[in-house]
Formats: sequence, structure tokens, C-alpha cells
Amino acid sequence: TAQGTIAPLLARASARFGGRVALSFLGGASHTFDQTDELAGRVASGLAAKGVARGDRVLLHLPNSIEWVAVYHAIARLGAVIVPANAMATVVELRYMAQDAQVAGIVTSAANAAALRAEEAPFVVGCGADADGDGFLSLARAAYRPPAKVAPDDLFTICYTSGTTGRPKGVMLSHGNVFQSMAGTATFHVRHGGDVAFSALPFPHVYGNIVLNAVFLTGMRLIAAARFDAGEALRTISRDGVTLFEGVPTMYYQLLAHPDLTTANLTSLSRCTVGGQTMPLAKQQAVMARLGCPLLELWGMTELAGPATTHSPWWVPRPGTVGLPLPGVQVRIASLSAPSIDLPPGEDGEVFVRGPLTTRGYWKRPEATAEVLDRSGWLATGDIGHLDADGYLTVVDRKKDMILTAGYNVYPAELERVIALHPGVKMVAVVGVPDEDKGEVAHAFVVPMDDKAPDADELLAHCRLHLAAYKVPRRVSFVDDLPKTGTGKIMRGALRAPTA
Ligand code: ATP
Ligand code: MG
Repeated sequence: TAQGTIAPLLARASARFGGRVALSFLGGASHTFDQTDELAGRVASGLAAKGVARGDRVLLHLPNSIEWVAVYHAIARLGAVIVPANAMATVVELRYMAQDAQVAGIVTSAANAAALRAEEAPFVVGCGADADGDGFLSLARAAYRPPAKVAPDDLFTICYTSGTTGRPKGVMLSHGNVFQSMAGTATFHVRHGGDVAFSALPFPHVYGNIVLNAVFLTGMRLIAAARFDAGEALRTISRDGVTLFEGVPTMYYQLLAHPDLTTANLTSLSRCTVGGQTMPLAKQQAVMARLGCPLLELWGMTELAGPATTHSPWWVPRPGTVGLPLPGVQVRIASLSAPSIDLPPGEDGEVFVRGPLTTRGYWKRPEATAEVLDRSGWLATGDIGHLDADGYLTVVDRKKDMILTAGYNVYPAELERVIALHPGVKMVAVVGVPDEDKGEVAHAFVVPMDDKAPDADELLAHCRLHLAAYKVPRRVSFVDDLPKTGTGKIMRGALRAPTA
């Protein structure tokens, strides 16, 4: 069980790190620990004045910004519950979340606020230059409010999943879940006050969220961007002496293909982190060689408040694995046909996780909760993988993305790994598509490198060299880009749709 809470995080950071810079926004201002704490304290008073009390839900929908941070921590210190919406969410999606979570208020852009005013939320605050009246300032005028007493088991966030398999489900996370994820990751990654991190990960997503909160735990500085641009990232690393870069695989693919990579000064980088999706080993090795530092892979999910396993510069790297569990986290591999049976090291099965990170379930969805969470607290992750004899986890792929072709199981990630070995491949995604003969066949979508694009025959010959015949993709499409989520994860689901 987890012990800490997020409520006093900023006040403690202010006491420890005071006037040092905590956050800088690309193209915007910098904010010290003192200033950030002060602002969150005033927003807490402003929200309380609007009636927000312990346990009340507030929907927050803003880009990465100081306003986002202030509202998030204001809600934490009130013991209220935050519903963080992805910046790409539409008005229809916001309305759904507001109703499903029965929110006490909404903080969003001015344009969305205008469209949402007729909704049930007792108040809607529109922010930004085009806001009516005071906008965000209407929340931040009141006096400083110190953190309330909040317990680790108190509900803190409801994070809606993308809802690819039905209506979006709200993952309930406690203060303890979020605290433990932040603290465990910061420890394993050896984050410290001397670090300057760069990240364009969205704060509402669990990955971006632990990067943000680690700032206040460790005293490091975070340079945050509202959207990722590889050229801008390279300039920032060179100019600001970034020591720690944090991203999803697609961000690294863009860095590797960027013409400025060869001239950028990256000597300040001491390590990078990657997670959220499988990243083929050849690409990971290219990142380490070209950026000149270790790449620490992490594996996790919203239902686990962030990473559950990761690597650390402290121990010997084991490339191809996603590392070891965070403190207190247990991992077991269950037989796919009989989930109560544990599989021995080396054998693939479904990954189950138990411990301080695990969600208590989906908001108002007891049936959905029962499907993934058993009575003894084990969470079925939906990912396939295995442990090695030392407890390192290897994640093979998602159960639901497995391709069944002519009676064989094929993991798209294995095909992606092989295709990514080809130097002409910038990015690749493989999905199963219906086939009259074989049930399903593998279809590879390839984004080529500008200067050395392979042709389809060459790529298929390469696949035949590395893969058993039944695994070789039956179709290859060359595309300019791949569909991505707001976090930058490739959406295989969108490629499977007939319009793709
Ligand atoms: P949804 O549940 O709404 O369909 P999602 O599962 O992509 O979306 P997240 O919680 O952000 O939403 O992602 C968790 C998933 O991401 C994991 O279940 C796993 O499949 C994948 N993942 C995360 N990190 C890694 C990694 N290092 N290697 C392989 N897969 C990873
Ligand atoms: Mg998921």
C-alpha cells in the first residue's frame, strides 16, 4: 500500500526549493517553486469559493501550461477529484466526461466554455486571451490556501481511457496510486535537483503526469512543450543543457530522422526515457548511439497510474525487456487458457500486476472493473509477456492486437521489430486485416526515411530473411505519417479501419 499523497507536494517543494525555477514553458514564462505553490494555493481558494469541496469532481481541459498545473494542485490540496481531459478532446467528449463524472465544474478554453455553458456543471471557467471577463484569473484572485489533510486512499483522479472498445471508462486513481508512481519512477530513474528535463508529453496522460510531479518531489527543472516538434526539441536540448529527455517512441523516430540531429550539441543529455508503446530494439539502439546516452524504457498504463516497471542507470541494462517492477509492485504471468495458473520464466502469458499502483476500478462500471480486477487485487493488463529468471519483464504485445493467420498467432510487434531493422524505415505499424483464405493477414504501414526509402519488394525480401513464412506481411503500404493519439502513440486501431 502507498503512503504519500499529492496534496502537500507543492507546499513542501516551495519550502525546500523556494526561488529556484521549477517549470519553463517553451515560448512562455518560467515559474519558481514558490510562485507555483502560491498560484495553486490561490486557485484552491477560488475553486472553494465556487463550491468545490472534498470528493467533488472538476474537469480540467487545457494544454500543458502553468494554469493546468495550478488547477491540478489546487484540486489535490482541496481533497477534490480531478478529471483530466486530453487536450485533443472535443466538446462532445468533454460533455460525456462531465456528465459521466457528474462534475462540480469545468476549466477549459474560452471557445469550449462557450459551447458547454448550457451543461449541467455548476460552473464553467473559460481560459486564454479570448476569455470573457476574468477567465482563469477569476479562479486565482483569492488568498493562499494551505493543503487540507488528505489520505492516501482518497480518490484523486478519474482518467478516461480513449474508448476504442466502447464508451470511455474512467480509471479511478487514489492519491496513493499517483504518489507511489511518481516516487518510484523518480527513484529508479535517479531524478534529482540538478536535472533539467524536457518533455512534450501531455500532463493529463499518466506518463506526462509523473514527469510533471517529479519536478516537485526532486527539485529538478522541467522545460515543457504543449506539442512536440523535433527541431525545437533539439534546439532546446543544446541551448538549455537538458539532462533528461522524456518521450514516446514516435518522438524519437522524429528526432532520428531530423536533419539537425547531426549538428545539435547533445552532450548535456545523461539519459532518456521511453514508454507507452513497444519500441523496436533497432530504434532503441539508434537512439542511444545518436543521442549518446542510455534510454530507460518504462512500461505501464493508466490503470497503474503510470509506469509499473522500468530500467535504472543503477543496474545492468537488459535491452529488449521493460526492466524491473517499481517498489512494492508484484508481477505475475498467467496462462492465457487458465488465468489462475502462473507460468514459469520464459513462457508468454497475460501480465498481471498487484500493489500500490493498481486502480480500484472504473468509475461507476462495476462489470468492467470485475473483468480486469480480481478479488485478491490482481489487475489483468491485457498485455502479453514473460519474466526472465531475474524478474525482468518482457512485454510482447497487446492481447487484442494479436493476429490470427491460418491458425497461427502472430504478434504485430515482432513484425514491427524486424521491419524497423531496415535503415530506410522511419516508423512502422503492423495490424491484422480480414482475409478470405487465412482469416487474417498482416498489413504493414511503413513511413520511409526521406533519403533512403526502401521499395516494397526489398522490404518483403528483408522480412522473408528474418521471419517464418506465415508471419511475413501480405500487404505493405507506404504512408507519409501514422495516426497518433494526443500523447503521440500510434493508433493501430485507426489503421485497421476500412478507410485507412
Ligand atoms: P485504451 O486502454 O484506452 O485503449 P491505452 O491502453 O493505449 O488506451 P494507456 O493506459 O496510455 O492507454 O496505455 C497502456 C498500454 O500501453 C499498455 O497496456 C501497453 O499495451 C502499452 N505500453 C506501455 N508501455 C509499453 C512498453 N514499454 N512496451 C510495450 N507496450 C507498452
Ligand atoms: Mg489500455
